[in-house]
This record gives sequence, structure tokens and C-alpha cells, in this order.
Amino acid sequence: RTVMPIATVNPATGETLRTFEPLGARALEERIARARSAFEEHRTTGFATRSRLLTRTAELLDHDREDIARTMTLEMGKPVAAARAEAAKCAKAMRWYAEHAPDLLADGYPSPADTEDSGAARVVVRHRPLGVVLAVMPWNFPLWQVVRFAAPALMAGNTGLLKHASNVPQTALYLEDLFRRAGWPEGCFQTLLIGSRAVEGVLRDPRVAAATLTGSEPAGRSVAAIAGDEVKKTVLELGGSDPYIVMPSADVARAADTAVTARTQNNGQSCIAAKRFLVHSDVHDAFCERFTAGMRALTVGDPLEESTDVGPLALEQGRTELEALVDDAVERGARVLTGGRRPPGRDRGWFYEPTVVTGVDPGMRIRREETFGPVATVHRVHSADEAVALANDTPFGLSSNVWTRDPGETERFARDIEAGGVYFNGMTASHPAFPFGGVKRSGYGRELAGQGIREFCNVTTLWYG
Ligand code: NAP
Repeated sequence: RTVMPIATVNPATGETLRTFEPLGARALEERIARARSAFEEHRTTGFATRSRLLTRTAELLDHDREDIARTMTLEMGKPVAAARAEAAKCAKAMRWYAEHAPDLLADGYPSPADTEDSGAARVVVRHRPLGVVLAVMPWNFPLWQVVRFAAPALMAGNTGLLKHASNVPQTALYLEDLFRRAGWPEGCFQTLLIGSRAVEGVLRDPRVAAATLTGSEPAGRSVAAIAGDEVKKTVLELGGSDPYIVMPSADVARAADTAVTARTQNNGQSCIAAKRFLVHSDVHDAFCERFTAGMRALTVGDPLEESTDVGPLALEQGRTELEALVDDAVERGARVLTGGRRPPGRDRGWFYEPTVVTGVDPGMRIRREETFGPVATVHRVHSADEAVALANDTPFGLSSNVWTRDPGETERFARDIEAGGVYFNGMTASHPAFPFGGVKRSGYGRELAGQGIREFCNVTTLWYG
């Protein structure tokens, strides 16, 4: 993998807008030292102080929404309305953790019988912070991925170092500035403008306690291997190839309309986007027709235009990889129902038409790899058994979607789909109150909810004789 320059390149035009120098060795050292000394102070503050600071951060973010939305759109190409919604969601998650962290991290008490059995007068289970947490984050939700780490981590008393994706440096710098303006003590949250090769040194630094990574499988494997070597805790949120199952009892029209959004939101570059559509033969043709028409009707264009549904892919390399997956499938006999090409007449920017592919067989790359862009594959299935088998026949296990009104089937899918989420009669969306994460090659550990805030805690047994 080539090391990316740290730069803002507008994916709608291909134009380089700003470039940044990576941090030098001394500046990096200063920042790690600051994160560690900030931790010594921050770990002793109470929830009331942290909640006040996080609420203030949410207020500032609400105030900045329009500006930061445009910055995100310029850096990675998501439609500006979606960028605004992302900023609003981040403020909501901050308020959620500001309110709920004290309860989620409240002291626990084993039963009186167990306490007595241990010979103790009293036993308390306390969630103490771990220390400096390194966050390696991707560009696709450049605010949200960071906030869903930072809000719980800071509430728990940890401090954060952010290594953001190299193509979103202005969003990364905005985040550091946001936390500083909100009054968090210096060093509680810092951005490190560094390339991916510099991650190892930070991770091995004894002052860094743990790491969380959201991104691709190769990046996750590398960070987890180094952290394993150092015996440091990690949480990994990696790729996904989520199934979207439609059974005969479903509301097929709603399923098809929702499928369009589930596949193309964020220009199709979401880990939890529905990517494989497994449709029962009884409703297959009706679903395909409506879904394909919906995909064809989307407006592809400048993401700063309010009317745009689908903007460019964030990276030129991303489009190249997506095209290769579709081309490989077509060469091996798959059929393209719509799309399958760059939009005619748009020679600038990294656009790709919303695409539906059928006739996919196991020899095709698209069958096993993640399509990180607006490309759907539709598969015909004949039973719930076949749907479960195909849903699970992937290296990934992030989330999943099932459309059915049959209670027996619902239970069956809830029990058998190998994924961190099963969303019935709707599409996957993260929410601060629900745990989020995957199994298999989609990673391990959970973000959000109580599970997320406790990942980076030292769960301490206090035994009083
Ligand atoms: P990526 O290339 O893995 O980049 C993610 C982050 O990891 C970036 O900050 C990147 O830095 C860094 N990185 C890359 N290689 C690294 C290495 N060997 N060691 C240390 N750091 C490294 O992923 P992406 O293409 O930006 O994002 C797309 C992937 O993320 C997809 O697979 C998607 O499904 C996944 N994703 C998962 C979730 C989830 O919650 N499970 C959410 C969103 C995205 P540079 O930018 O400097 O290379």
C-alpha cells in the first residue's frame, strides 16, 4: 500500500486544495507526552465536569454545523445534506454520553452473599480509565467515526490521540480545535497529522495504553498485530458486506425503496451499507424492478448541490477498485441491470453510477469482497435456509437486514445470522444507545452504548476486608 499524502483533494474535481506537512519526530513526541500528562489530571475529574465539557462541545458543534459540513463534503465528497446530518448526529451522541456516562460507569456491587462468601466487608467494581487511547480513523464519516470514540473515551477519563485518514486533514484539525474551544484541558484530545507508517511508533510508545481502529482489514490486522505484540487492548471496526434479505411476507415496495438508500447513502461508502441483496424467488422480480428503477432515478452530481443524491467516490483508488470488481463480474457472466460505468460527460472527479448486478456466482471477486461504493448485487434465494446460508457465506459479519413479517422466520434470522446486528424491516443505522460492531473479519469489540464506553476502562475490583 502506498503512503497517502496528507492533503485535501476535492473528489468532485480531482483538484488538490491544500497539503499539509506530517508532524516531525519532536512535535509527535511532545503530543504524546502532553496526552499522558493530561491523563494524570483528567482521570481524577468527576463526571459533572466531563459532562459539562462534552455538552459545551455539542453546542459548539451545532453552531459550526454548516461550515464543518462543507469542509467534509469538500474533503470526501458526501452530499452536503448528509454531512449536516452527520454533524447533528455527533452532537446528539455527545449529549447522550454526557447524560448517561455516570450511570453506565457507576460502581457495581456483587451480591451480599458473594461478598460475604469472599470474606469481604464490602466489594466494589469500579470503571477506571485506561489512559491514552490512539484512534486510527477512516474518512467515510470523518466526524462521526471520531466522535463515537472520543465522547465515551473522554467521559470515562481517558485522553485521545487521533490519527485520521490522510485525505481529511481539515476535518481532523477541526476536531482538535473543537475540543480545545469547548474547554477540555490541553492534551485531552489531539490530532496527529501523520501517515500510516508512523502509527507503529505511537502504538509501541509505553505512554499509549490502547488503540481503536475503524477501517480496512489490512489496516486492522497491522494495528492489532503490533498491539498484540505490546499486549495492548484494541477495538477493531473493519469492513462489511451486509446482507439484505427480502422474504415473501415483506412489504416489497418499502423494502426496495429502503434498499436504494441502504446501498447508496454516503455514496455507497459505508461499512454498514447493505451490499448483498438476497431476495426470495416469489418476490425477486418485483423487488428487482423497483430497486433498479430507484437506483437509476438517483441524481449523481456535485455533492455541494442540495439536490444531489450520490456524489463522487472519496478516492480515485476507491473508484478503480470498485470498477475492477464490477468488470471482473461482467467478464465472468454477470449482468448489469443499471449503471456499471462512470457517468457519461463527467470527466472530472471520481464518479460512478449507481449499479445493480445480478447473476453473481462464487467465482467472482464481487461475491467475496466488499463493494465500497454504490454497487449492489442481487441474488435469488428459495428459502429461509438458503438465505441464512448465503448471508453467512462471507468473511465479514458486521450488520444485516431482514424484511419479513413472519414471526417464526424473524426468530430464525435473529438466532442464525452471524453479524453484530440484525435489523428487521428497516436498514442498519447506528445509534448512541445501541452497541455497534462486528464478528469474523469485521472486527471485534463494540462501540457506543454501555459496551462501547467500557471497552477502554480498567474494570477494577476493590475488596475491603
Ligand atoms: P483504511 O485504508 O484502512 O484507512 C483507515 C485508517 O487506517 C486511515 O487513518 C489510514 O491512514 C489508516 N491506515 C491504513 N493502513 C494502515 C496501516 N497499515 N497501519 C496503520 N494505519 C493504517 O480504510 P479506508 O479505505 O479509509 O476506509 C474504508 C474501510 O473502512 C472499509 O473497509 C469500511 O468498511 C471500513 N469501515 C468500517 C467501519 C466500521 O465501523 N466497521 C466504519 C467505516 C468504515 P491513511 O489514510 O494515512 O492511509
